[in-house]
Amino acid sequence: MDISQIIDPLNKAQRAAVCSEAQNTLVLAGAGSGKTRVLVHRIAWLVQVENVSPYSIMAVTFTNKAAGEMRFRIENLLKTPVRNMWVGTFHGLAHRLLRSHWQDANLLENFQIIDSDDQLRLIKRIMKEMGIDDKKHPPRETQWFVNECKDDGRRAAQVNQRELHNREFMLDVYQQYEALCQRTGMVDFAELLLRAHELWLYKPHVLKHYQQRFSHLLVDEFQDTNTIQYAWLKVLSGNNLPETQMTTMVVGDDDQSIYGWRGAKIEHIREFSEDFKSGSTETVRLEQNYRSTGNILDAANAVIANNSDRMGKQLWTEDSEGELLQIYRAFNEIDEAAYVCGQIEKWIENGGKRSDIAILYRSNAQSQPHEYELVKRGVPYRVYGGLRFYDRAEIKDALAYMRLIANREDDAAFERIINTPTRGIGQRTVDNIRQVAKEKQQNLWQTAVELAANQGLTARAATSVQKFIDLIEELQIDAGEATQDSLNLTEQVTHIVEASMLKEHHGKENSERSQARVENLDELVNAAKRFDEQGDPLLDAMLEARDEVQEEDDTNNLSPMAEFLAHAALEAGEGQADEWQDCVQLMSLHSAKGLEFELVFLSGLEQGLFPHKNALQDYVGGRLEEERRLCYVGITRARQQLHLSHAESRTIYGRSELARPSQFLTEIPASLVSQVRAVVENRQGAYGAGRFNHNASKFSSDEEDGVYIGQSVSHKKFGEGMVVDVEGSGARARVQVSFDTHGTRWLMLNVAKLDL
Ligand code: ATP
Ligand code: MG
Repeated sequence: MDISQIIDPLNKAQRAAVCSEAQNTLVLAGAGSGKTRVLVHRIAWLVQVENVSPYSIMAVTFTNKAAGEMRFRIENLLKTPVRNMWVGTFHGLAHRLLRSHWQDANLLENFQIIDSDDQLRLIKRIMKEMGIDDKKHPPRETQWFVNECKDDGRRAAQVNQRELHNREFMLDVYQQYEALCQRTGMVDFAELLLRAHELWLYKPHVLKHYQQRFSHLLVDEFQDTNTIQYAWLKVLSGNNLPETQMTTMVVGDDDQSIYGWRGAKIEHIREFSEDFKSGSTETVRLEQNYRSTGNILDAANAVIANNSDRMGKQLWTEDSEGELLQIYRAFNEIDEAAYVCGQIEKWIENGGKRSDIAILYRSNAQSQPHEYELVKRGVPYRVYGGLRFYDRAEIKDALAYMRLIANREDDAAFERIINTPTRGIGQRTVDNIRQVAKEKQQNLWQTAVELAANQGLTARAATSVQKFIDLIEELQIDAGEATQDSLNLTEQVTHIVEASMLKEHHGKENSERSQARVENLDELVNAAKRFDEQGDPLLDAMLEARDEVQEEDDTNNLSPMAEFLAHAALEAGEGQADEWQDCVQLMSLHSAKGLEFELVFLSGLEQGLFPHKNALQDYVGGRLEEERRLCYVGITRARQQLHLSHAESRTIYGRSELARPSQFLTEIPASLVSQVRAVVENRQGAYGAGRFNHNASKFSSDEEDGVYIGQSVSHKKFGEGMVVDVEGSGARARVQVSFDTHGTRWLMLNVAKLDL
């Protein structure tokens, strides 16, 4: 093979890294400067030119998707499969090691990997057996504690009493959990890494074997390694041994460190040169960006410049300025999603591919309005790194309540929620109900009602089951399904989410994950509200089609709740594109790391949403800087076009709340952006947009007597205020104004005589 194929597509600095003769190399460079390309070409160079066997190479990346991509690119360059090369994530590689050396790792041969939910269940059980009140001490907190210890490389025996903050029981739980997992052959995610590290420490012959096997270690996204991952690399590289021959190359960008909340430490980049000190160490900086247009790059540079304590990098591009960035100021999240979809349709009409498009957001709950709009318009999409909205556990729980309220025959819903949230109904009771139901050939609900009433259960179980039955009956009465005096759909869903205690259940602990679940439940209320207001065009079409088939059937009498459930089921099952289909990509900013797209939408740029409200409450500022790095990651995913959007009001828990634009938007120089905002007249329908001059902040579009959201007005009696909502047109136009001293009021435009 021609070496030029490896070397030619590289610039000088990249070439220096690829051909480096130093023992340890750190490539420190900004987004899109070709770090991942350097790793791929370096591997090809090693195999092709230095005759290194693929067997002796280990490459670590951050996600399975990235690992697959890396292998694909290497094989493409070399034009031959390299199966025996180790390419994977830290977790994947650790797993492979432990499978091969289960005895040395002191594991059962058929050990099982358990996910976070399984882990929580075990911890809960242990706490229960120990008699610890899980109301006072949410098991998730203990789970968090256990994982944090493991990520830091500490077994229960190494935990310092002072860290426990008077919660000694957590240490006992950790100990018992360790023992239980050991006995039953269960391994959680953090354990994979810890155990693989211990394998190095306690089994020198195993370590030696791999130190002899691997001559080259390569790590992508190095800024996001946590303590145990870094320690594992350090020991393997044998950098502390004078005779080591292993060569290590790590590539990373301090500005893209976004997993601090999960224990990743930026400091490893700084420590690398000191820690990997055997042989020569070289640092290479790449400064040319090959991904984005000039305007996109300038915006990214300007935003990240607001962070302190950076390692400092310059990024430039030969590419033209490209188009201006578009900032869309939406009325609300529906309007925002409609704008995004409109732009996507335009892109497709112009011959663009859907797979070149990404919609990125800060928290997974935000996918919902986008999914809604995409389904509505029949645009295929795929949600990455996280389940689609209606497939998420907490949403399924809430829907199961609604389903059971709507239909007592729904056994699946019954089973899902009989003990969710936990109400002391054990597996044995559920098995018992199931058994009797089977014998009597009736549904679980009816069986439970009978068993609870006829002493068919232990006294304790009967009380708990009766409580559950009462809850469902009450919820139904409250919801008004059984009476004339019915709540609207939004009120029903709100009530069910509240009264079922699902929010308390899912939001018990103080973790991002838990918070995301609560946010999702809130978002369900919003989804109901949107459905209440707009209905579901797909569902309407479906019902119509069905009515045509069964004319006599009185089918249009579906209750709003039943319609909403049908809508949810429909969205859960469809819309998501097949693997091979050309589709739009939806993902959180965290899972977009390392990827690139021609057209990118960053949505929900509002204070409290992005930056996330937790970061705003962190006065030390570390978290705000991590949010800013996340914003930098988001902006730098775009190659050609970038749209940033924020909504003036966003539905939060069924209520419209005013939202302020994200501070990150103000950090982008005005000269790089074109501001677009929705036109009032169009807010109910399509997403027309009028442009306005950014500096003057004034409409220059040709829309009529434009009252618009955000406009300052004054009223004879109520004084100064700002328009926060507008409805209707002509004689029926109403505006909602938030007055400085008189609260928020709806006013008829032609009666109120506002000074505009
Ligand atoms: P990130 O920080 O986002 O992970 P990165 O530094 O890893 O980015 P790459 O993904 O390797 O950057 O490269 C960004 C884009 O630039 C890719 O499309 C890549 O193919 C292209 N690229 C990199 N180097 C060159 C080059 N020398 N000539 C042409 N294109 C290049
Ligand atoms: Mg990369």
